[in-house]
Amino acid sequence: MMPPRFRMLPPSAAPLGPLDIMSGLRGWRVGGETLETLRQKLRARFDVRHVFFSTSGRAGLSVGLQALRALNPERDEVLLPAFTSFSVPSAVVNAGLKISLYDLHADTLAPDLSSLEKALNSRTLCVVACHLFGYPLDLQSLREMCRACGTHLLDDAAQAMGARINGKLAGTMGDVGLFSLSRGKNMTAVDGGIVLTDRDDVASSLRGMILPKGSDGAAQAMKNLARSLALTFMLHPRAYWLPASLPFLHIGTSIFDPEFETDGLDGFRAGLAGRVLERLDALNAGRRGVSISLLAGLESVSGVRTVRPLPAAEPVFLRLPVLPVSGGWAGGNIFEVPELGVVRSYPLALHQISGVLPHLAGAGRYPVSEMLARNLLTLPTHAFVQETDVNAICDVFRNLSGNPSVLQKEAA
Ligand SMILES: *Cc1c(COP(=O)(O)O)cnc(C)c1O
Repeated sequence: MMPPRFRMLPPSAAPLGPLDIMSGLRGWRVGGETLETLRQKLRARFDVRHVFFSTSGRAGLSVGLQALRALNPERDEVLLPAFTSFSVPSAVVNAGLKISLYDLHADTLAPDLSSLEKALNSRTLCVVACHLFGYPLDLQSLREMCRACGTHLLDDAAQAMGARINGKLAGTMGDVGLFSLSRGKNMTAVDGGIVLTDRDDVASSLRGMILPKGSDGAAQAMKNLARSLALTFMLHPRAYWLPASLPFLHIGTSIFDPEFETDGLDGFRAGLAGRVLERLDALNAGRRGVSISLLAGLESVSGVRTVRPLPAAEPVFLRLPVLPVSGGWAGGNIFEVPELGVVRSYPLALHQISGVLPHLAGAGRYPVSEMLARNLLTLPTHAFVQETDVNAICDVFRNLSGNPSVLQKEAA
């Protein structure tokens, strides 16, 4: 059956409710104490010594890197996966550092350590590892490799808040950890970043860099209120066509932009985050449920493969990444089915972004990252995805492998 008209699934959604917004308003009124309460909750939940807040994930990443730089001024290169969110290179350039790259494994999206080792040198300040789409990486051996080279490891869990591997939580396996609270992440507070560290030297370096608290002025509060109301009402499949059709919202586009603020978080968003954090496990469990149905449905479809979780991984499935079994999709081109939330992931590997080129420390080849940029599709896993949607999504791929030249969306 086709989905009803005007139904459109957002690619990702962690909707807010009226009670979350009440909690935000309370946080605005109370101010600094709200941040302190959130900090205590996060310290306990992730078992870390120090927690800092920033106005966005990339702001947290930028100040985290600047804090490391202050400890190691002679090192100025940051080693990134060549396939990841454009926020990551944006943050490196914002921090005034150079970018170098490593490739990934095509079957697991884990770092290709031989490619990484080639790029690692005495100027490497930090290696960033990203748990893409909520699939956790085991960073044990990478951490040892970094230690041996005198470099730091930044555990970017912006897409994997709550994921575990071998009992260890994503975000807590490096010298510095990162979560993002922007829309489209595991849990959202409209926008925001969380920086974690167990290291006292990194923490004192960080302390002077982020404002302890963002603006609690009326203008900021109104902006937060308007955006959180939008996240309450606009993510619904019956309403999402509206924001999706407004080009100035840049929904679903990846932008490299190193110019951004590196402020702290305000009371409103800390209040939101505090309440949404209580739901994180439920949000993750919901996405796992949808993912299990999608995986079961796709198992019998010949042309499609899914990313293989590493041993002992407990992914949180922010989105479900799928790839063609052969080098490309049947018919030759990647496609999207926006009504079903089936969308392309990052359209370029980082070395293919023209704005990144002047900031690259060296040249290299990253064929897997290029293949991922060309072919990787993501399927939605959020709470609005129903059984009929799962079936419709699986049918898209079934039709594709049955009949390479036609994507039979409108048949029926
Ligand atoms: C989202 C994201 C970030 C942070 O981005 P913001 O949108 O600024 O919160 C960092 N790294 C990765 C891998 C991400 O997906």
